[in-house]
Amino acid sequence: MNKIVPERFYKLGTQPNEMRELFEYGKKRKLEVGDDKVYDYSLGNPSSPAPAALNDSIREVLGKYSSIQLHGYTSSQGDQASRQTIADYLNKTHGFNCSGGDLYLTCGAASALAITLNAISMPGDEAIVFVPYFTEYKVFVEDAGMKLVEVPCRRTDFQIDFDALESAVNEHTKAVIINSPNNPTGAVIPEKDIIKLAKLLDDAQKKYGSAIFLIADEPYRELVYDDDITVPFVPKYYDNSIINYSFSKALSMPGERFGYIMVSPKSPYHDEVYFSVCGAGRSMGYICAPAIFQRAVPMCLGQTADISVYKTNRDILYNALVEYGYEVVHPDGAFYLFIKAMEPDAYAFCEKAKSLDLLIVPSDTFGMGGYVRIAYCVDTDMVRRSLPAFRKLAEMYGK
Ligand code: PLP
Repeated sequence: MNKIVPERFYKLGTQPNEMRELFEYGKKRKLEVGDDKVYDYSLGNPSSPAPAALNDSIREVLGKYSSIQLHGYTSSQGDQASRQTIADYLNKTHGFNCSGGDLYLTCGAASALAITLNAISMPGDEAIVFVPYFTEYKVFVEDAGMKLVEVPCRRTDFQIDFDALESAVNEHTKAVIINSPNNPTGAVIPEKDIIKLAKLLDDAQKKYGSAIFLIADEPYRELVYDDDITVPFVPKYYDNSIINYSFSKALSMPGERFGYIMVSPKSPYHDEVYFSVCGAGRSMGYICAPAIFQRAVPMCLGQTADISVYKTNRDILYNALVEYGYEVVHPDGAFYLFIKAMEPDAYAFCEKAKSLDLLIVPSDTFGMGGYVRIAYCVDTDMVRRSLPAFRKLAEMYGK
């Protein structure tokens, strides 16, 4: 039979999403054995409630704006006043100097990434991602017509391996995507490495006479748990930076779909890139991000959900897993732990965990084998209840 739809989309639509399947399995299993006997660490859905500030802002805007202002179309790239308020916040927080005219409001980081990559992609271009990486990067990069170039991180701390990066950068490199704090490892890139990265990319641009954009995918920016950990604002270090920010995790509102693209005004290609972002957004149908949130979110910039629960969960899990004999790199941010599977096949390891009703995700989903991701954005009670299962799992491997 002749194919009538693109094979690529058909495949993406039918291909199982392992995390979702595990989550669905968990729901069914809870009906069989009881809610409290299944330890579901599958999804990165924030468990801490949205802060009162967000709900208060929504109520306030409902009373303050007209129906057309709340539910009507805004400018395609987002309401000018909302964009300016966000730009002012960035300037105040990071000592930067951008304006609303550098921002494009989006449906979360996912559409920001898809738009950004389409906006900069030219035939033959390559985009570098660091392995392990958020699964959807492959979809977005390849859909934008770029070649995905996978560069492994250092296994010891999941930070950038600069030798590996240097050998991957070439005259075709158009984008490097970083994600700090990281999904799935929880690693936060320190300032010294951002400085080194900026220098490496600047040198490569000079060497090849090209433009290489550093895309900072930042849905977890605020999710860091220790005073000595900071997340550098990359446009201060590298001119060809593009921020892809999302409010999904910081404000616990992933279902509302809201974020932005910020094209650094310091980029020599700023105008070309910004207008190409507007054009890519238009061509992909991603215009006019949700209007209520364009009004409400700028009123609670700098606020977050109570992230102390994630710190508590991280500390309980990290300490217990180390004690039980797991190999774990201490995660500084996001709400993920990335641990070494106790056998080479992470799928087999996760199946054993599943037999104990412990639902964890094999790292193959993130571009590398041998590890598992634990999404600890869950109730602390569940974390405590799950510890005997983690202990038993380690014992199954003679630990
Ligand atoms: N980038 C990373 C690294 C993520 O983990 C996620 C979501 O989990 C996204 C992007 C997409 O986030 P959003 O909900 O803002 O589209």
